[in-house]
Amino acid sequence: MDYHLKNISSDDSPQRNNVKMLILGSGPAGLSAALYAARASLEPVVLTGMELGGQVSLTNMVENYPGFPDGVGGQDLVDLFQKQAEKFGARIEYDAATKVDLSKRPFKVQTYNGEYLADTLIIATGAQATHLDVPGEMELTGRGVSYCATCDGWFFKEKDVVIVGGGDSALEESLFLTRYVKSITIIHRRDSLRAGVILQERAINHPKIKFIWNSVITEIIGDETVGKVKIKNITTGETTELPTDGVFIFIGHKPNTQLFADDLDLDEHGYIKRTDLLTTGIPGVFVAGEAGDPDFRQVITSAGMGAAAAMQAIRFLQASEEKQSEVVKS
Ligand code: NAP
Repeated sequence: MDYHLKNISSDDSPQRNNVKMLILGSGPAGLSAALYAARASLEPVVLTGMELGGQVSLTNMVENYPGFPDGVGGQDLVDLFQKQAEKFGARIEYDAATKVDLSKRPFKVQTYNGEYLADTLIIATGAQATHLDVPGEMELTGRGVSYCATCDGWFFKEKDVVIVGGGDSALEESLFLTRYVKSITIIHRRDSLRAGVILQERAINHPKIKFIWNSVITEIIGDETVGKVKIKNITTGETTELPTDGVFIFIGHKPNTQLFADDLDLDEHGYIKRTDLLTTGIPGVFVAGEAGDPDFRQVITSAGMGAAAAMQAIRFLQASEEKQSEVVKS
């Protein structure tokens, strides 16, 4: 979902806000952090980022989030998270950070609409699946185009699907999907796979999986849902069409962390390096959800990390308040 965020013009003086806790990102991690912080009376502010609800809001139906035996729409789940956090005093701002200065507390965060000075910061900016950027992809996302086999595999029971990518994710997710689908065609742009050998062996030997090599999808076609894909062989230039019920795209994930590259350590894939207790290299700055999680990337794990990061931030604030009052006493 795109929000048109107001740019600060030279006539506007930026609004400055002092907050105890600023949360960047409004996916399951950010909104769960907001719920916990709000219930601790910290009046947290959540900056939604460019997409309210993050990746889950793009998912048609979530069936693996506990408490919803009949499943829940991705957007509906986000709405419930938001409502619950706001009920206890969280403030949700349709705004995004554009620049951060984490060199000292309070942390300075510039946004499209103003500036925040935050005693603690929770980074829950999530990650984005890399897109193919071909015609039909955006229009049919959630209607046959998916970036998450765990979330959407169930909807493709006994269907024919194609997978794009040749890395570990593509093969691992393909093997996961074999429990549901009738057939999988993996379309890969080269003639050899990037994935590890064991995954390769399993995928190549699986009776439901076949490969189309040296090929890319140039268009995804369908009215209400995906109906077929246009494929181009990049060695011969030949173009063909393949009927399919779904297109799963696994060509890499990119954590939304570039904004923090100067202040925090990132790993080679861009994930923020963190401890098990969700601390980063800077005291008072915590990370939750996919910005710091290359391993699980689920709604439930992100929500859990959000709650835990908020608890950590609450403890951090309590400890610094106690320290300050000891200094005043002595
Ligand atoms: P990845 O290793 O970067 O693989 C991405 C795949 O997508 C590559 O095969 C690449 O082709 C292809 N690709 C990239 N851009 C494309 C485009 N525009 N059009 C068509 N194909 C495109 O990403 P990943 O599989 O998500 O894995 C990310 C990291 O997580 C890796 O280090 C991986 O080892 C790790 N991981 C590990 C496991 C596991 O150990 N079980 C599971 C998942 C992920 P080329 O090969 O031609 O570059």
